[in-house]
Order: sequence, then C-alpha cells, then structure tokens
Amino acid sequence: MQRRLFIRQSLLAIPALYVGNSLLFASCRKDDELKPGNWRGKVIVIGAGISGIYAAKQLMSLGIDVTVLEASGRTGGRIRGLEGFADFEIELGAEEVHGKRSEWYNIVNGTPGVSFNEASSEDYFYIGNVLKSESAWAGNSVLTQAKTFENTARNYSGVDKTVHEQAIAQGINPDGYEIINAYLGNEYGASNNVLSIKGITEEDQLWESGDDNYTLKSGSYTNVLKHHYADVINKVKLNHPVTQISYAGNQVTVTANGTNFVADRVIVTVPLAVLQSGTIQFSPQLPNAKRNAINKIGMGAGMKVILKFKDRFWAANTGTIIGGPKSAMYWTTGLGKSNTALLTAFVMGEKAQYLSSLGNGATNALLAELDQMYGNSAATKAFTEAHIMDWGKEQYIRGAYSYAIVGGGISQRRELAASIDNKLFFAGEATHTAGHNSTVHGALETAIRAVNEITKA
Ligand SMILES: Cc1cc2nc3c(=O)[nH]c(=O)nc-3n(C[C@H](O)[C@H](O)[C@H](O)COP(=O)(O)OP(=O)(O)OC[C@H]3O[C@@H](n4cnc5c(N)ncnc54)[C@H](O)[C@@H]3O)c2cc1C
Repeated sequence: MQRRLFIRQSLLAIPALYVGNSLLFASCRKDDELKPGNWRGKVIVIGAGISGIYAAKQLMSLGIDVTVLEASGRTGGRIRGLEGFADFEIELGAEEVHGKRSEWYNIVNGTPGVSFNEASSEDYFYIGNVLKSESAWAGNSVLTQAKTFENTARNYSGVDKTVHEQAIAQGINPDGYEIINAYLGNEYGASNNVLSIKGITEEDQLWESGDDNYTLKSGSYTNVLKHHYADVINKVKLNHPVTQISYAGNQVTVTANGTNFVADRVIVTVPLAVLQSGTIQFSPQLPNAKRNAINKIGMGAGMKVILKFKDRFWAANTGTIIGGPKSAMYWTTGLGKSNTALLTAFVMGEKAQYLSSLGNGATNALLAELDQMYGNSAATKAFTEAHIMDWGKEQYIRGAYSYAIVGGGISQRRELAASIDNKLFFAGEATHTAGHNSTVHGALETAIRAVNEITKA
C-alpha cells in the first residue's frame, strides 16, 4: 500500500468515482465501526481537536454526560483555517483527506457546501540548482533514483535504522537527498535523519484508507466541524488547560484552571508532544510502559508559511516545488479554486526547527530560496505578505504530528493507546495502532475506539 500523506503527486488530481455530483460513499475499516456498549456514566474529554470532538459527539448521542475541556481559546486543534488572507479559507493544519475508506471522508463528503478539487498539475524539482518540471527532468538519474527509493522504502525488512542511513547504505546520489527528505521525512512530519524506515514500513503495511488524496475546492474543515458538531463545540469549556489528572479513587478528578472536574471516566486526546512535555501531572504516575511509549514515538517542529504575491512567477501548471534546502516543498495553494497567487511552504523536522528559530525572518529565508530557484529576484519582487503558522510554538500542540523513530514502532502506539484501570482512556492521532496515525481520519478512528472501550468497560 503506498501511503501518501502530504505530498501532492500530480497534486489535487482526483481519480474518484462520481455518481451525479457526489463521490461514492465508501465503507470504513471494520475496526473503525462504532459498537458502543451499555455502560453509562460521566465522562470528561480532554482536548477539542477532531478526536475529542468526535468522541464527545458519540458519547452525547448515547445520552452520556460529557464535559469537554480545551486548553486553548479555540476548538479544532490541528484543524485550523486562516480567513481574510485570500478569497478562501486557507487550511493552516490538515489540508488533505487521505483515501476514501474512512468515516472522515464520508463526513467531509457529506457536508453541504463542501466539494473536492479536481485541478491537475505537475511537480517541479530543484536538482543541482536547476528547477524543472518532472516531465522536463525525464530520464534524469538523480530524480529516477530518488523516486525509486521513495517507492520501495516502505517495503523495508532489515534492521531498524533511519531513512537517511538507508539512503546512504543504498548509495543514493546526495543530490537526491532533499527529494527523498521531501517525500519521506517531511511527509511524515520529521526529517530523514530521525524517521525510522522500519517504522514507516510497518505503518504503511497496515494503511487501509486508500491511496488517493482529496483537497477541498469549496468549504473548509472548520466548516465541516461546525456543521456536524455545533452541539459539541458550543459546550466545550475553552481556556481550560488541564494540569492534573488524579485517578487513584473510584472516580477521576481533572484539574483545569484551578477548578476540579470529577467523572467516572476520562479520555485524554492531547497531542503526544503535550504528554511528552510533562505539563499534565498524573496521579498516580502513568505506568512505566506508557511513559516509555510516550518517549518512543516522535513529534517535532512543523510549519506552514503562506506566501502571497502580486502575481504568479511560477509556471501555471505547477503543483508542488520539491527539493529546496530551506523548505522541503512548496505547493500552489488555491490552485483550481482561486486567482490569488499563493505558495505554501510545508516544512517539517530539522528544516522547520531552523526556520522557526528565525521567527519572522523565516519569510525572507524562503523568499531568498525562491529567488534562487526562479532567478531575477522574482519572489521578492512579487511578494506582498506572509502568514507563518508554526505548530511547534503553539503552547498546547507543540509540534506537527507523530512519527516513527528508530526503536519505536506500532507496539509503542499500542502502549500509548492502552486504557488504565477502566478510568483513563487515550485517543488522538498518535494513539492509532493500525497505520493511520498522523492524520485526521486516524485521529477520528481513535475516538471511535475510545468510545467503544469506554461504553463496554
Ligand atoms: C501542518 C499540518 C498539516 C497536516 N496535514 C494533514 C492533512 O493534510 N491530512 C490529514 O489527515 N492530517 C493532517 N495533519 C494531521 C492532523 O491535523 C492531525 O492528525 C489531527 O488533526 C489531530 O487531531 P487530534 O484530535 O488527535 O489532536 P489535536 O487536533 O491536536 O487536538 C488536541 C487538542 O488538545 C488540546 N490540549 C492540549 N493540551 C491540553 C491540556 N493540557 N488541556 C486541555 N486541552 C489540551 C489542544 O489545544 C488541541 O485542541 C496535519 C497536521 C499539521 C500540523
């Protein structure tokens, strides 16, 4: 199964089945069906990203008394839109629906005012200081080798090592390293020098939601959430950062903003990096296996920098620009739906760490890179404004999304997902144990699992 996360191979092209105007609804994995049991009691959900919102919605529909505590001043977590910057809402977090065999796909597809994009485009590659389209590079050995590596990397069966170590072992031409990093390290929310090749193989072989990616032509994910989950969103207690979870007694006491909330069961959906930060105290301490798991899954820096220009200096058919040393990739945001000239730099791992350290200076670094690629100060001359979304600097997110590190793997995700004493339950993208981690549909599937566990327990 070729899992393609955030890379738009032939960007936006949608090889989907159409019936009239609507895409065919697809069935989900068997494990992702809601099969709630009869338990009824009081539940606290911590975090109002997609996993928290979806879990709360299902519990509420069962008549269960639910309180949702959200640390920040907004709902949606890593689903967030930027309004007013262009003539459409720009997705600052999740942007693509990965595959159609998921409940998330069905939800998005079933939202009034939301449609999928059908524009097609071509990828451009920056190799040896030259930028050309994929077709213009046809036969180039660096590109061919890098693409072959990417296509076979997720069939790896040797000892655990990083993607970069494997590229060296296979004698990959260093001119292709940036391309491989864009395809793998960056795609998985990291860099090749920390991403486990065994880990991505393991995840990929479990991936079941399908290989096609869908972006929105109209509507936004925020609208999808508002349309389906207004009842949950309206009852979320915003600005309630949870600092303590005490689960020694029959019930669980959750402390947020100096107030104690008491429930029979709690679902923790906060991002992995929040658990890693130790800003939530558990009493008693989490079991050793759980604490080890928290540290054996990676989550690091990740940014989107949205760059607006007076006009396009790139070729009209451009989808993705891959291989720059500063930004692993840029994509032409709004292609197929807007005339605003926008590029999004999608940067993860060590490149994001570096750009993040520059603060607002990240914009100039990216413009300089684009100037170098296109020549004649094209980017600087056309630039009007930028919006930097630095997920690592978000106090209650602290990074992009989880990824496999050497020595980690799905077994660690299982430990992370395991409930404790029938009182503490864990959901959120990092707790997905069947390869859909790091995605919206995966996060939603963990909510289904947690609701099934809670109501059966
Ligand atoms: C730049 C970027 C691009 C992405 N692109 C895609 C994509 O194209 N397709 C895709 O499928 N996925 C994508 N993802 C991943 C996807 O966004 C996430 O996997 C998913 O949204 C995670 O949902 P979640 O509910 O697990 O976590 P979150 O959405 O992070 O929700 C967790 C919530 O917990 C809250 N919280 C944290 N600490 C506390 C506390 N102490 N007390 C109370 N609340 C707390 C947070 O504020 C947050 O609202 C992308 C992510 C990023 C960052």
